[in-house]
Amino acid sequence: MKLLFFLFLVLLVYVLVFKKPQARPRPNFPGPGKGEDMVRCAQCGVHLPRSEGVLSQGEFYCSDEHRRQHQASSAASD
Ligand SMILES: [Zn+2]
Repeated sequence: MKLLFFLFLVLLVYVLVFKKPQARPRPNFPGPGKGEDMVRCAQCGVHLPRSEGVLSQGEFYCSDEHRRQHQASSAASD
């Protein structure tokens, strides 16, 4: 009977150890396009994450080249 109790104790410890929730630190780095605002290039219309866009005068652009193109064309039409 003593042996049975011992086995039960071993089993209990075994279960407790293996059922322990593992505190896994989750890496929380901002991935591109995940949970981030998407903006639209005012020149070509492509969508891209806000952090990758170029902001100028309240408009987003996919690249500095498109920013210059758009501002050059809007300046010409004025
Ligand atoms: Zn663009």
